[in-house]
Amino acid sequence: MKKFLLFLGAPGSGKGTQAQKLQNKYGICQISTGDLLREVIARKTDLGKKVANYVHNGELVPDEVIVEIVKDKLAQDKDIKENGFILDGFPRTVRQADLLRKVLQDNNMQLEAVVFFEIDLETIVKRILGRLTCAKCGKIYNSYNNLPAQEGQCDVCGGKVARRVDDTEEKIRKRFSIYKEQTEPLLGYYEDSLIKIAGDKDLNAIFEDLEEIVSAKINA
Ligand code: AMP
Repeated sequence: MKKFLLFLGAPGSGKGTQAQKLQNKYGICQISTGDLLREVIARKTDLGKKVANYVHNGELVPDEVIVEIVKDKLAQDKDIKENGFILDGFPRTVRQADLLRKVLQDNNMQLEAVVFFEIDLETIVKRILGRLTCAKCGKIYNSYNNLPAQEGQCDVCGGKVARRVDDTEEKIRKRFSIYKEQTEPLLGYYEDSLIKIAGDKDLNAIFEDLEEIVSAKINA
């Protein structure tokens, strides 16, 4: 089933976890720009080193760089054309949203829903401080109630599971203020297609809300 969805929300609002769940159940491809950037960094190329400076400091990568990475992903991944996508973490600025509009037009794709995960800063801080991420496949765990079966090892791919370098309290607060300043204006940008979801509920309750929204769109 093909759907073109966009998830908006602050870092730690649950977009990534829910996108992974939706991908597993419905096959819609998660495009996480954070994961794509971490892959670029792991390759240790010149671009990787440049990008690492931004990501590890909790700052946004320049718009042109991230848009090229997204364009490449859309061009290369055949599953996306067949199953659709969930954009997770992109766009993060109004300029990126303008560029995305053009990329979608060029690819004959149209967004069907923009889902906004609403959540407050203190819940985010608590949640991100417990977040553990697989360095290889990006699967998200947490130290409160969702640990991998083997400590430090991903259940899916065997990769190393640890806290991300940008998931410290100082970086979380910095990323949140960048979000407020640069990403929150997108709520106005997508006003007409925006669907709000309560991001502070537990994982399964959020997924139920999300499935309701998406299945309304899926069956539409
Ligand atoms: P995330 O995994 O979504 O929390 O993203 C981790 C980091 O990757 C962010 O703090 C930024 O440094 C970078 N990043 C991810 N997506 C974008 C984007 N759309 N624009 C600029 N930087 C991004």
